[in-house]
Amino acid sequence: MGRKTIGRIERWTISLKPEIDRLLEKVAKERGLNKTDLVESIIIEWAYNHGYNKIIHFNFRDNSITVWDYLLNETVDLHYDSVKKTLICSRCRTTYCGHVSAAIKIPEVRQKLKKGQIVVEDL
Ligand SMILES: [Zn+2]
Repeated sequence: MGRKTIGRIERWTISLKPEIDRLLEKVAKERGLNKTDLVESIIIEWAYNHGYNKIIHFNFRDNSITVWDYLLNETVDLHYDSVKKTLICSRCRTTYCGHVSAAIKIPEVRQKLKKGQIVVEDL
């Protein structure tokens, strides 16, 4: 189950406290992701927040922004929900992740935020 992986991947086993595992399980289920994809999303968000990742290209298309994620080396679509006025990341399946927080730093996206055309949670 999960997303198709393109290119090489590294596999390793980690040991977690059951409380942390249950939390990951719960959030993964809420987002409709498997735990691997959730953990990757969390790491990608951490990497954006600590200067280890960046958007190297983006473009607007109708109600979405497609960004090129440097670490993932692939595109990620952020869809604009015109009713809720939020950006939803199709990869992380949330309105708040590294992609959304990096995208809102793009001047063109900031313009839309200022005009109230996009509202982002937890700014
Ligand atoms: Zn994301």
